[in-house]
Amino acid sequence: MSRSPLAPEETVPEVDTVEDVLELVRARGGRASSARRILVQVLFDHPGHLSAEELAEEVQATSPDVNVSTVYRNLDELERLGVVTHAHLGHGPATYHLAARRHGHLVCEECGETIEVPVSLFDSLRKQTSSRFGFTVDPGHSALIGRCRNCRRR
Ligand SMILES: [Zn+2]
Ligand SMILES: [Zn+2]
Ligand SMILES: [Zn+2]
Repeated sequence: MSRSPLAPEETVPEVDTVEDVLELVRARGGRASSARRILVQVLFDHPGHLSAEELAEEVQATSPDVNVSTVYRNLDELERLGVVTHAHLGHGPATYHLAARRHGHLVCEECGETIEVPVSLFDSLRKQTSSRFGFTVDPGHSALIGRCRNCRRR
């Protein structure tokens, strides 16, 4: 059970390059090993929604010598450092993003379309749940499930 250590209100510095990400890793006390660099490069090249297994496949496509278990361990460690975060988009496995690209998701239960939305969309929900229930919503962690525009028309 990996848990995102990133608090919903925590802001993550902008990262434009793989080097920026590795710099953030070092700044937070992590090591920037070559296997980590490869994983971060894969995360950069695939900003979509890849599962840990798919990320491991991409890493191995370019670097067959990197173990799957190393990829999983690095993913956990990068998440612990607040550099990477995961989201649940429905029934499938968790998918991973760079934390700097955190966003919310609307997922259509009919066709599976995933719409990325700014987390600020949930600001008023977050304020109200916090003041009324003392509960902090993390809008990037799970998707909102519903029906997309196209499926609603049918
Ligand atoms: Zn989770
Ligand atoms: Zn749809
Ligand atoms: Zn996403």
